[in-house]
Amino acid sequence: MIINKLVEGNKRYKWKLLDKKETIDIEGRVPRYPVLILTCMDSRIDVHRIFQLNSGDVFVLRNAGNQFSEDILRSILISIYEYGVKQIIILGHLDCEMKKVNLDELRHNLPIELLRELGKKSVDLRFSLQRFFRIISDEIINIKNQVDRFKSIKAISKNVKIIGMIYDPASGWVYTEEDLNHFPSYENFMANYRELLHKKQLDHVSFLETIESEIVGAESVELTKLNELEANKKIVKSESIDEALNKEIAEKSLLESKIERLDLPDLEKYMNMPLKIQIPKIHIPKIKVYVPSVIKPNKKNGK
Ligand SMILES: [Zn+2]
Repeated sequence: MIINKLVEGNKRYKWKLLDKKETIDIEGRVPRYPVLILTCMDSRIDVHRIFQLNSGDVFVLRNAGNQFSEDILRSILISIYEYGVKQIIILGHLDCEMKKVNLDELRHNLPIELLRELGKKSVDLRFSLQRFFRIISDEIINIKNQVDRFKSIKAISKNVKIIGMIYDPASGWVYTEEDLNHFPSYENFMANYRELLHKKQLDHVSFLETIESEIVGAESVELTKLNELEANKKIVKSESIDEALNKEIAEKSLLESKIERLDLPDLEKYMNMPLKIQIPKIHIPKIKVYVPSVIKPNKKNGK
């Protein structure tokens, strides 16, 4: 069933390519950015989607728990010495299954041949399992350990910057190395989660203002600016410039105090935050039907 879904998905993709709703990247084998991201195989992480990247932008490597291995090393060395990668990001995530693996359950589910093989490596089978599957105890410490592991290999760290980041599948936020440096363990990170989220949201408000035109459309922004200009003219007419300025400052601090008073992380309040952004009207695009040229009626012969 799933194979059918994949094949059908590919047919839809091909249709979108024909209809120019998708693009295909066939230029060059070198990624657009000299970056490699090593992340977990967790199906909730879609690297291109969460960073809004396109195919052909970066290298992505994945395994359970975003960990160092001989094979990961092989790929990384190729990416550096063959493709000129300059930056490696170890992208871990919260709620990683590699922390929650129940070794006793796993033990019962594994084929006996494998257990026998693992049993040879240590008298303690539990220890062998833990080692073989590289079970982690803390997502953040794991990221730091992996960063250190890659940094310890001179052939990598000589010319390449290695950093860690963590993705939160519940909120969609990615926390950068700066955040991870402040909170060295999962427990520590979660204890400060509210504060971190608050910081993210304040930063997001400023960011949304910078992409205002993207959100409401360039025309509306021009219109808003014109209206503001008109409004300002009226203010200048009726009040002195000082008064207008004071008014603006008062409005700004009112907005700031409102933001400060928010009891975050209350997503509903966050969404209703007083942004200087208009919600765009729903735009229903015209449906363009693609008719392959082979089945278009031939005008010359058809008449
Ligand atoms: Zn994971």
